Formats: sequence, structure tokens, C-alpha cells
Amino acid sequence: MIYLDNAATTSPKPEIVIKEVNRALRHYSANPGRGGHSPSLAAAKAVFQTRSLVKDFFHASSEENVIFTSGCTHSLNTVIKGVLKQGDHVVISSLEHNAVLRPLYQLSQQGKIRYSIAKVTVGDDDATIDAFRSAINQHTRMLICTHASNVFGVRLPVERLCALAHSYGILFCLDAAQSAGVLDIDLAADGYDYVCCAGHKGLYGPAGIGLLLLNGGAPIAPLIEGGTGSESANLLMPDFYPDRLESGTLNIPGICGLGGGIRFIGQRGVNKIAEHEMRLIRMLYRNLSDTDRILLYTPQPDLSVSAPVLSFNIEGADSETVSEYLNRHGVAVRAGLHCAPTAHESMGTVDSGTVRIAPSVFTTEHDIRLLLNAVKNFIHSS
Ligand code: PMP
Repeated sequence: MIYLDNAATTSPKPEIVIKEVNRALRHYSANPGRGGHSPSLAAAKAVFQTRSLVKDFFHASSEENVIFTSGCTHSLNTVIKGVLKQGDHVVISSLEHNAVLRPLYQLSQQGKIRYSIAKVTVGDDDATIDAFRSAINQHTRMLICTHASNVFGVRLPVERLCALAHSYGILFCLDAAQSAGVLDIDLAADGYDYVCCAGHKGLYGPAGIGLLLLNGGAPIAPLIEGGTGSESANLLMPDFYPDRLESGTLNIPGICGLGGGIRFIGQRGVNKIAEHEMRLIRMLYRNLSDTDRILLYTPQPDLSVSAPVLSFNIEGADSETVSEYLNRHGVAVRAGLHCAPTAHESMGTVDSGTVRIAPSVFTTEHDIRLLLNAVKNFIHSS
């Protein structure tokens, strides 16, 4: 089976990730920060080493500002529910994932906050920035924006949007689920207040691990309360990070596996990985452009304007039917709305969904050729 659904989660995982998960289960099955005995201290050391790796990778200011979560959804919920207060207003892009849309919708239904959606104009960053600027009002407290669309690959001008937010004294939260590992993220240079990452996509970690990176911003109230191994006599959560946002026993195999993923990316080089994947996406785009009945939704992909993800449709065919056909012919892709309904509304694909292709560092030209053959066979047979 050729796996081209790496925007859902990367597969296969690098050998080093499997080894690190294995090592954690064998050697770090004690509770870090919960005991003075050697096994607990060894587990705590392993966790700290990954925190350090993450800190260096994203240029965070300290290990304390690296929070381990269960995934990007958890990180985004922590920021949204832990920072926003009654009466706050938020501006988000039209390409956001349900991990942003649903918590905001829920808070708005409860009458706590309001939010506006700024339309992204593909190929015109100035227009996108103007849309955000027009949506800002006197109650706007935060801008939340995906670095790159998990459906169409479109990159958003997040550095400029962060500067725009700060010029109004507004916080900026980056959803880096689709970009971490393929696009550079530098907290020190770019100044995002919060960065939310999935550990299991471009960082090549296992499922069930994510990151919330803090970079100043406003304090965050914990999403859940519980044991941290610190200040145990206090019924209030500690007021220092990472403990404040990390209640309960940590996912040590996930954390160690993520550490393996970050080492792997560091050795390969983020830019090299991105160039490899983008070369494949360009090859796919070129071939699909020359094929009858293919609908493409973005201009020619390029790393300056997009991440290596591509959506298409076949005229007259439902995206689910196409993906089922591809699955039967040995190619795994995802169809439908990809948890991003407003992204599809803005591209006019909300009824059909799209077929999404997302390569990884392990995808080859041969894989793309087999996909193209299968697509052409579908077209001839339908
Ligand atoms: N945001 C975006 C843009 C995503 O693509 C995803 C996952 N597909 C998420 C958030 C949620 O990430 P997780 O699966 O780690 O919760």
C-alpha cells in the first residue's frame, strides 16, 4: 500500500522513533517528578532531554515554555479556553481546522466570546491581511491562524499577521499542526505568543503527543487540574510552567518518540525534507493539470506560498468514491472535508469535499507515478 495520507498522520515512522518508544517502555517505566528514586529520576531526565530538544528546535526561550500535550487539539483548546475571558473577541482565518473552530463555536454559544472569520485570498497576502485588519475590533484579544492549510497547503502570511496583532496589542496563536517539521518556526525571531503543534505529523512522533510552546503572551489557566508532583499540599495548581499545564502522568513513550522524531528531522534538515516533498507535489500538480476532468484549487505549488499538501477532484465523481477506488488499487489518501469545513466553503468544495494528497520524507517519485496511473485509470473507467 502506498501511503499518501501524511497530513492525517505520518506513516511509516522513522526507525529512531520506534527505538525511542521502545526504549522508553523498557527503561523509563517510572513516574517522572513523582519520586526521588533512580527510575523516576531517569524518566524525568529523559523527559527533560526531549524538552530541551524541542526548545532548541523551535528557539523557545526555556524548557519551562515547552508544554507536552496529547496533540494539537489539546494545545489549541488549552490556549483558547485558558486565555480568553468573558467578552473577548477573536479573529481566525477561513482555513482553520475544527480544533480551532469547535472550541470557539462552543464558547460563543455559551455567550462567553465572539469570533470573526477573515477570508484568506489565495495568492494575495495583502488582501488576507486587510481582511484580518478589518475584522479586528476594540474587544479583539487574539488572532489564531494556521501556518498552512491542512487541506489545500496554502501558506498564510503568519509573520505579518503576528506583527499586525502585536501592533494592536493583540495576542497571536499559531496552529503549526500542518507546518512543524516542514516550515521554519522560530519563536525568538517571529514572536508568536503561542505555538500549537501535533507531534504525530511532520515531527514524526507517535500518536497521542503534541506541543504547546509559550513565548510570553498572557498567562494560561489550566484546562484540567490534577497532580503534578510539585507543591502537592496546595489545592491550587502551581503557577509555574510546565507544571501548571501538565497535570497527570506524562506520556513518556510519546515524549521520547517525539524526541526521536525531532532528532530525525534535525539530521535530514527541515528545508531538505520540505524541498523533497514539494518536488513531489509539483510533479503531481503538473501531471494533474494536464489531465482531463481534474479540478485543482490552488496555483502551482511552491514552498514560498504553500506547504506540500494538495487537494483535487475529478469532475463528475465524489471525492469519497475516488478515494475508495484508490484504496482498492493500493493507494491510501483521504477524501471529504478533512475537519476544515470553512476552508472548503471558501474554495467552493464543501459539497464534494476533496481528495487530499500529502507526501512524507519517505514518499518517492515512483509512489506519485503509481497514484497518477490509478487516477487516470479511474477517469477512463468512469
Ligand atoms: N490543526 C490542523 C491544521 C490540523 O491539520 C490538525 C490535525 N489534522 C489539528 C489541528 C489537530 O491536531 P491533532 O491531531 O494533533 O489533535
